[in-house]
Amino acid sequence: MQPLAAKQFALQVVQRLREAGFESLWAGGCVRDMLLGREPNDYDVATAATPEQVREVFGRRRTLAIGAAFGVITVLGSKQQGQIEVATFRCDAEYSDGRRPDSVSFSTAEEDAQRRDFTINGLFYDPLAEQVIDYVAGQADLQAGVIRAIRDPFERIAEDKLRMLRAVRFAATFDFQLEAQTRAAICQQAGALQVVSAERIAAEMQRMLVHPQRCRAMELLRDCQLLVEVLPEAKRFDEQPSTWSETRDVLERLASPCFPVVFAALIRLLVKAGDGAAARTIGKRWKLSNDDLKLTAFLIAHVAEIRTADQVAWPQLQRILIHDNIQDLMALAEAVAGTCEDPPAGLERCREKLELPQQKLNPPLLLDGNDLRQLIQPGPVFKEILTAVRDAQLEGQLTSQSEALDYVRVLLSQHPEQGTQV
Ligand code: ATP
Ligand code: MG
Repeated sequence: MQPLAAKQFALQVVQRLREAGFESLWAGGCVRDMLLGREPNDYDVATAATPEQVREVFGRRRTLAIGAAFGVITVLGSKQQGQIEVATFRCDAEYSDGRRPDSVSFSTAEEDAQRRDFTINGLFYDPLAEQVIDYVAGQADLQAGVIRAIRDPFERIAEDKLRMLRAVRFAATFDFQLEAQTRAAICQQAGALQVVSAERIAAEMQRMLVHPQRCRAMELLRDCQLLVEVLPEAKRFDEQPSTWSETRDVLERLASPCFPVVFAALIRLLVKAGDGAAARTIGKRWKLSNDDLKLTAFLIAHVAEIRTADQVAWPQLQRILIHDNIQDLMALAEAVAGTCEDPPAGLERCREKLELPQQKLNPPLLLDGNDLRQLIQPGPVFKEILTAVRDAQLEGQLTSQSEALDYVRVLLSQHPEQGTQV
């Protein structure tokens, strides 16, 4: 998607609907972002046309009706234009599950603004007249930097508990304040976050954690007792405040990390040192992808070894340094080392070794599994021997295949039950 093309397309969609006689406006996040001088992620259009009418205007082939039950039709543009969600002005009926309205009914722009979550998200914009339409005093809150629920915050949070995390995300990422009553409503209902699906919680947490304002987000979550809802292990931060200040410092020091690096930084002091399996368990609760789970477990398992790498045997360290994600591990270890004022020798050794040409850092095997299978049957001793040969090679004790084979014979003589074929 190309930002200018997307914006042009959003304008065209409004124009087409207007020509067909339906009041139509840009709505919600895109208006907020535009007024903040940020590039909107995507444009949403709100309209008086019903979903069926929207489909008639744009044609069935250029629309998708996946969200039609909630009054949303997706209008498809070119690859550059992307797609636009066109939602019929609506008001929501009761929310009995704490997350979604039981039904919706079509209504006016003003009522549509009232069902939105926060005042800064309740704005409309008429792109033809270039005019903001503000039924909820959202512009004033945008100016003042305030996240305020539209209407009664206690009711609005009770309706949809996901709004608690959205409020914190917007406050943190825009560096806004949570308005006092909105904040009180969140603190009061934090314990009910569990009605929100793990996937939705995880998606919000991921967005907060990769953002440069991640520390502010985590502080707000802690202040509102939401962090222990999404991460019960975080109780430790309250019981032992130094674990939080250290974690905070590490989070702050990460420059532009991928999610698993931030996640590992967050949980590092909440699991036993080096316990990759425990990290994986938490990651599963957060619905991480398999790749992210694997990387998180790797980071947690090895971050301590990197910091003390000057005391780690080379073959053991080498196997960590040749890992695909070593740069992520280094980034985490650097951030941790910075806060703990580690002696620099460990990290320095790693940096030096990582500068080595590939041939030196990771020399080709002198003997692989196929070679060894010519000599003995696979089994527990098999793996032990392969490892021992590789260790000796990395230590510089073996430099050719014939030396490696000699060494295998020596090793096998210590395992007479295996030695028959040599
Ligand atoms: P971003 O896209 O940056 O997450 P956004 O505000 O655009 O922020 P969307 O999820 O794209 O978030 O939603 C678009 C608009 O729909 C919001 O601006 C808001 O007006 C409304 N909205 C979204 N989620 C909720 C909710 N849980 N409760 C009430 N209104 C909501
Ligand atoms: Mg949006």
